[in-house]
This record gives sequence, structure tokens and C-alpha cells, in this order.
Amino acid sequence: MKEVKQPDRKRILYFYSVAIALLLIGNLLLPSLIAPKTKAVSYNEFVAMAQEGKIAQAEIQSKDNRIVFTVDDSKNKKEQVYVTALVDDPDLIGRLLDSKVDFTKIWPTAPSPFLTAVLPFLLIMGFGMWMTRSMQKKMGSGAMSFGKSNAKMYVASETGIHFSDVQGEDEAKELLTEIVDFLHDPQRYADIGAHIPKGALLVGPPGTGKTLLAKAVAGEANVPFFSISGSEFVEMFVGMGAAKVRDLFKQANEKAPCIVFIDEIDTIGKKREGSGGMGGNDEREQTLNQLLTEMDGFDGSKGVVILAATNRPESLDPALLRPGRFDRRVPVELPDLIGREAILKVHAQKVKCEQGLDFNAIARMAAGASGAELANMVNEAALRAVRAGRDKVAQSDLEESVEVVIAGYQKKNKILSNKEKLIVSYHEIGHALVAALQSHSAPVTKITIIPRTSGALGYTMQVEQEEHNLMSREELANKIATLTGGRAAEELALHSITTGASNDIEQATRLARAMISRYGMSDAFGMVAFEQVHNAYLGGDASMACADKTAAEIDQMVVTLVRKQYDKAKQLLSENMDKLHALSKHLYDHETITGDEFMKLLEEPKLEMEKPEEE
Ligand code: ADP
Ligand code: MG
Ligand code: ZN
Repeated sequence: MKEVKQPDRKRILYFYSVAIALLLIGNLLLPSLIAPKTKAVSYNEFVAMAQEGKIAQAEIQSKDNRIVFTVDDSKNKKEQVYVTALVDDPDLIGRLLDSKVDFTKIWPTAPSPFLTAVLPFLLIMGFGMWMTRSMQKKMGSGAMSFGKSNAKMYVASETGIHFSDVQGEDEAKELLTEIVDFLHDPQRYADIGAHIPKGALLVGPPGTGKTLLAKAVAGEANVPFFSISGSEFVEMFVGMGAAKVRDLFKQANEKAPCIVFIDEIDTIGKKREGSGGMGGNDEREQTLNQLLTEMDGFDGSKGVVILAATNRPESLDPALLRPGRFDRRVPVELPDLIGREAILKVHAQKVKCEQGLDFNAIARMAAGASGAELANMVNEAALRAVRAGRDKVAQSDLEESVEVVIAGYQKKNKILSNKEKLIVSYHEIGHALVAALQSHSAPVTKITIIPRTSGALGYTMQVEQEEHNLMSREELANKIATLTGGRAAEELALHSITTGASNDIEQATRLARAMISRYGMSDAFGMVAFEQVHNAYLGGDASMACADKTAAEIDQMVVTLVRKQYDKAKQLLSENMDKLHALSKHLYDHETITGDEFMKLLEEPKLEMEKPEEE
């Protein structure tokens, strides 16, 4: 897709410079160029010539304080033009009339007042207008662009984005394909009497490809595509947002069939409040009202389709969602395993890769990653390959870049003391061992104690064999046990506990609370939800919705639940102290071990029993 080009500014500038140059030439040089060759004489001579009757014609130019006159030179058959100073002579006219001089126009006047006064003015005005307009374009919006929508218009071209660029969102693509089909052939729909939805709302977490999908629709449909972000409607002057909406729809109606895409529509489409009151929201409400009016006003069969995207659909005004407006809701969710693999492949096409990379393995490591994160991973891998002086992306680059996106860069210059290194080794092996010793938990794929820029001093990576959509109560409990395994190992082996477990504690608490107040997994309360989740697509922060007494009881149950899992982890580890010591030493020495190495060591019947010694 490419942005429609403005008329060539350079050429406009060129035109203006030439025009101004011509004008200057005209004003300054023209009169002298077309003026006849003159001969200056004194006033005495002029009077003498008049008395002799030699002067044929004369022109008194009082403005220029001169008299221009011609003398018939019958011998040469040529007329000579003379000029003399205009002195204060009361008898001048009398003298000239006596000598039967013709008063006529001899001297060409300067260019007409239009050329000298009006034209430069017009040129300067035009130039100024052109300057302000190009300034506004550059500034995007501003005080000067009153009520003009600054929607960017795109036309599809060969470089456009197509549905094939968007992967892992097959349902969304299917829903949007119909819209593309309609724009190609509106008549077919009109014939049968079907209404195509006026608007479709793309909802989903950030980075899942909503904006990309909208552009793909434009690329496929080959129609003009107006793209504007909700925040661009919010103006510093009251009423301007509404004016912009009006302008946008006016433009769209002229260009139909076309697509209007309003990104981040929640900035203007938030729920309106009952009374308004303070007036602070009036502007936004006016803008929203205008949008609603425009959506009702235009004729859907003309072929204007409105797409909008948001990652907080629950905050949208219900009026926007009712039939006739954004009546089609297109979920754009986080990609599943197959989707992630496809997205990785699409982006890997843009970089040089070694043959036979295992994208499936990478996709499995990157559980929960969005399309944008996956795209970023491929780019990170390419950067890493360049840094290493290679010209192709290798499997190891991709693996490392997943870790970078999950845990941050390796922090090479961060030096852990040996004591700390030992603590971190036990902590991480604690997680890994507890995970491995329980039946319902994802296999460990990597354990490392190389610090990361995110602040993690080490981490244990677990990768599910296959995609999980449901989690059983056992699995959740095991997960909590695994999270507490780090702290448990520290306590068992080193008899002291550290702050290293803070993140684990946070996660364990959140899980335990969700089990009770959201997933209905407690015997005491059963299937009752005590939490309200807001912004499901933006991390899903929850607030408690229950009586204080219930909240206190839930807190107590969370404590009990986590403690039970902690005790279980300690139990598992204390039964395997030899393995805990041996594996921790191995990790301490090697800093990183793979899941396979870990499993091999774990299954070895005779592990050396020595403890890692502190230096
Ligand atoms: P959103 O609008 O949902 O926040 P974007 O559409 O802006 O996300 O996605 C940002 C970038 O991430 C895209 O330009 C693309 O490179 C990549 N991306 C996201 N989702 C996908 C996907 N489903 N398939 C391919 N690339 C994707
Ligand atoms: Mg977006
Ligand atoms: Zn931990």
C-alpha cells in the first residue's frame, strides 16, 4: 500500500520562483526596455524648440517631473524623443498651445496596477496558503487544521499487505473476507437484498495484528483506505473532533467504495456518562455522537465499510455496538501453536535463514506470545546473527531471541558472587526438580543462572508439549508447587531464605487467588465468582466483588493453599536431597543446562553425592 502522493511540492515552488522573477523583471526593467531612446535637453533648449515650432508632440509627466516631447526630423524621417526637466513655468501650457504642439501619450507607462500591486499580493497570499497547508500536513494536526480530518488515504498497490501476511487469525480473516467480497461486487449483495455490515470491530489483545488485518482488507479489496487513529479526533478546541468526523465521512462518501479504519476507537468511543457534569468529557461525547450520527446517516449499499480496532471492547459505548453500527465483532486473539509457527514463518521469509529450521520448537517455547512479539523475535534473531558475524539466522539465534523477549538480554557484566551463584543454582534446580517430580507439569527445557536485564538472576524454562486450553485443578496446584520449589530448595539446602523468590511468590499468590475467586475450585465456595476482571485483553486486572468477611476468608484460603503446595514442594525435595545437591553443583559449574541434560542427570541411578563447595 502506498500513500497517495501530494502534488509535487518542488514543482509548485519552482513555479512560484519563476513567477516572482518574471514579475520583478516586469516591474523594474520593462518600462526602460520598451521606453524609446531619449535625448536629454535643458529647459531653455525646450523653450527655444517650442518657439521654433519644431515640437510635434509633448507629454507632461508631472509625477516624474519631466516633459517628454518629440521633434519632427523630416530629413532623417525619424522621430527623436527628447526629455527635459519640468520646471515651475506658469506659461508652459500657453507656450505649447501657441506652438500647436500635440498633447499625446509618448512615454509608455509602467505596467498596469493589476500587475504591480495585485498580482504580487495574490502570489504572496497563495504562497502563504501553500506554506501553511504543507506545515499542517507535517504537524499532523494542529490549531490550524480546524475540523479537517487528517486521515491518511492509502491506495492499494502491488506492495500492499495481503491476507497472506496475517497468520494465525483464520477466523478473523474469514469474517473479513466477506467484506472484501462485498466491496468487489456490491451488486450481488444488493440483488439478493442482503445488507453488508456497516462496520466491523476488531477486538483483541495488543500486537495480535488488528491494524495489520485492516490494512490487509484494504490491500485485498483494492479500494481507497482511510486510516485514522481515535486519538487524532481529540482536539484542543471544543467541537473540532465532531467536525473532523464529519469531514472524514464526507471524504469517504466521495470516494466510495472505500474503507474507513478507526484505530484505537476506545479513545473516542468510551461509555458516555449519565450527566456529563464537569464538561471535560463533553468534547469526547460530541465526537462520539457525531460518529454515531454519521454511521446511521450513510447508505451502506454505497460501499463504505467502517473498520475499527480496540483492545478494550468492554469500555465502548453500547450505542456503538448495536446493529447498524459496529454490528460485526471480529475477535483477534493471541495465536495458538499452529498460528505462532505460521507467524514465525511469515516473518522468517523476510530474513535469510539457514535451511531446515525447526519453527515448531520455537513456537512451543513462545507460548502466549503475540504476533508482534513473534515478529520481534525473528528480528532479534537476525540481529544476533549479524552480531555473531554470520549471514544467516540459525536455530540458536531464534532460541536465544525467545529468551530475550521473555526474560530480557543476558547481562554479561553483572557478576554474581559465588555465594549468590550457589543460592541461585539451588533455587532454579528447586523449581526444576519439583516440576520434574510431579506428574502434571510441563517438562523443563532449560535452566540457567546467567542474569538477565529484566532483573532475573536465573530462570527455569518449561515448555508444554502441546497447546493447553484448559488447566485442571491438579495442574494449577502443581504449578503453584513448582513456583514455591525455588524457595523450598534454598531453605532445605542452605537453611536461609532470600528475596530471589519475590516474583515466584507473586505468581503463586495470583494463581491461588484465581483458583478460589474466579475458577470456582475451592470446596468452601464452589462455583461463585468473587472477582471482576477488567480489560481482559490488557493483562486482566481484577477487583474483588464480595463482602469484607468473604474477602478475609478468601485471603485465608489463599494462604492455606499456597502453604500446602510449599509443604508439598519441600517434601518432594527432601526425598531427593542427593539429586538437589548434585544437580545444583552441575548448574553452578555449567551455568546453563538443557532440559535433556537435566533429565539424563535426573535419571542417572548413581549421582555423585558431593555437595557443591562454597569458595
Ligand atoms: P495490533 O494493532 O493488534 O496491536 P499490529 O497489527 O499493529 O497489532 O501488529 C504489529 C506487528 O506485529 C505487525 O505489523 C506484524 O509485523 C506483526 N504481527 C502481529 N500479528 C500478526 C499476525 N497475526 N501475523 C503476522 N504478523 C503479525
Ligand atoms: Mg494497532
Ligand atoms: Zn524462582
